Amino acid sequence: MSRPRKPEDPIRWPVPCARCSQHHQTVARWPDGGICGYCYQQAKRTKGTCACGHEGVLPGLIDEQPACRQCSGVRLNIDCEACGAEDELHSGGRCWSCVLATVVDDLLTDPSRGIVAPELIPLATALKSMKRANSGITWIQQKHVTAFLRNLAVAPKITHDSFDELPDSRTREYVRGLLTEHGVLPRRDELRIRYENWSAQALDRVNNPENRDIIRRYIRWHHLRRMNQMDEVTRGTFLRAKQQVTVAIDLLNWLTGHGTNLAGLTQTHLDLWQAEGPTTRRIAEHFLKWAIKAKAAPAGLAIIPHRRGTSAKLDKTGQDEALNRVLHAGGQVEARDQAAAILILVFGQQAENIARLTWDDVAVTEELVTIQLGTIQIALPDPLDAPWRELAANPGHNLTASHPNTNWVFRGTSPGRHIHPGHLTTRLSKLFSTRAARLGTLHELTKLAPVAIIAETLGYSPTTIERHAVDSSAAYAQYMAAVRRSPTGR
Ligand SMILES: [Zn+2]
Ligand SMILES: [Zn+2]
Ligand SMILES: [Zn+2]
Repeated sequence: MSRPRKPEDPIRWPVPCARCSQHHQTVARWPDGGICGYCYQQAKRTKGTCACGHEGVLPGLIDEQPACRQCSGVRLNIDCEACGAEDELHSGGRCWSCVLATVVDDLLTDPSRGIVAPELIPLATALKSMKRANSGITWIQQKHVTAFLRNLAVAPKITHDSFDELPDSRTREYVRGLLTEHGVLPRRDELRIRYENWSAQALDRVNNPENRDIIRRYIRWHHLRRMNQMDEVTRGTFLRAKQQVTVAIDLLNWLTGHGTNLAGLTQTHLDLWQAEGPTTRRIAEHFLKWAIKAKAAPAGLAIIPHRRGTSAKLDKTGQDEALNRVLHAGGQVEARDQAAAILILVFGQQAENIARLTWDDVAVTEELVTIQLGTIQIALPDPLDAPWRELAANPGHNLTASHPNTNWVFRGTSPGRHIHPGHLTTRLSKLFSTRAARLGTLHELTKLAPVAIIAETLGYSPTTIERHAVDSSAAYAQYMAAVRRSPTGR
């Protein structure tokens, strides 16, 4: 049958088998001839109804049709001593089913009481009545199954909860399925329970107590609540819920690593986090929407859906080239475009924030040019300060008429208004893609400078202005050194 045959050996066994005509050892002489071991095995396992009406094992062969012992005259011991059934025997004159039953009873008997616990009897019946007793014995005699059933035999109570306390394994779930099938355990929504168990473990991966509480609420009030409203949790729901929580934990842990939290989340954080990781991070959209609704995250933030092939991030070489183009444009690029470009290329700032700068935010001294961007102050080392010095010396850029008293660094075409960020982006697009450059810069900064400094540079946590200035100059002194060292730098 399923056993692979050895190659034939016509020299050793010159007379072929009467049934398969192959040269193997003859193990029985039956009315239709000498039978090889393979055909003998198969004959013992052939079951059905003989032409005479007898139902059972049909080892004989009459006109190519299986036949019972009586009709064919085949002599074969297939009478179980224990149950009297006609079947292939396993050992001790007993059939496979009887042997299986003994094994099951033995395993499920509580040794202290000498009986099978009444609540386990339906399970015993189920195991004994497995359709294929031979594969049943093979399964049950595996070490881990044997151990599992022995434990079960002495378990004080059989409930879903007591099962849940046993180590998670396929055996556990298989036996649980049998117990449910036979009415010992009530039916329950397995995927919902599995999700609960999974999420309890997932919480351990959140590396900060405040965030753990947020994730706990997200699971409880979003995912589990939805699952409770379903008749039965589908596999798709189960997998999606796992993925959404996994990504949310990833985001929160990342924020912790950058010295901030969900309440301090900004669009820059989100863009950077998204740009740094795999595309699956966009799944965080679900969590973000929930967090905003739950007032755990600031409103107005969004995960930007990336279209395929537009993973907008300027690589390191592209950034260096863009910076070189900006710095060495030699009069072809206006000073104000150079000034804005530097803030994007070196500091990853957004066009919106740059457009809003006033001269109150800029300090030009003989040694240093510093710019206040939100809560942080950044210092521009040579040669990054040159366009800013030039702009400070001639801030009008030919728009003086519309701006008699204005304080805007980047003046717009409308009187009294600063430049529109979109307009600034368009102007700079001749030099580079501002979004790609910003994301690329954020990405590079995290590689170059200590995380604490980057957190400051990007405005992750407020601290004293002096420290900003000192720390951030260190950060981009390092950055500039790297730019100069790189082969594409001058
Ligand atoms: Zn044969
Ligand atoms: Zn018959
Ligand atoms: Zn039997």
